Amino acid sequence: MKKHIQLFEEYLGKTGGRVTQQKLSILEEIYKTRTHFEVEDFIDRIRAKDKKFSRATVYRTIKQLLDAGLIQKILTRDGKVYYERTPDHHPHDHLLCNVCGKIFEIKDEAVDTLLSQACAAIGFRPEYRSLHIYGQCQRCTTAKL
Ligand SMILES: [Zn+2]
Ligand SMILES: [Zn+2]
Repeated sequence: MKKHIQLFEEYLGKTGGRVTQQKLSILEEIYKTRTHFEVEDFIDRIRAKDKKFSRATVYRTIKQLLDAGLIQKILTRDGKVYYERTPDHHPHDHLLCNVCGKIFEIKDEAVDTLLSQACAAIGFRPEYRSLHIYGQCQRCTTAKL
């Protein structure tokens, strides 16, 4: 069984959620998506394949996947919300350009280590991490010169 399916089933088992084929299909579809996506676009796409997926089910499943640490949520400064899969169950961090809206990623073990140590130092047990840095990308900075 694929690791993300297994983890989701474990999570649903622990939290008393029901494992349904629909939820697993939504997870599979998300794991096939390699970009940051908006829920509404995702709903359009999955419903184009099969109308049985209701908006309510997609929203509920996304909330559960977030709780289970299988997806990440990215929030833009103007309130747009994106999601993406968390490969290998390993969160990464995001830089968001306030001018063009482009999203960049930081995937750096040194950041992970530093954050874990910082949490451990105050006896804090992290469950979900979401680090956003807002600013201007190189293209937008140089465009203004
Ligand atoms: Zn930019
Ligand atoms: Zn990302």
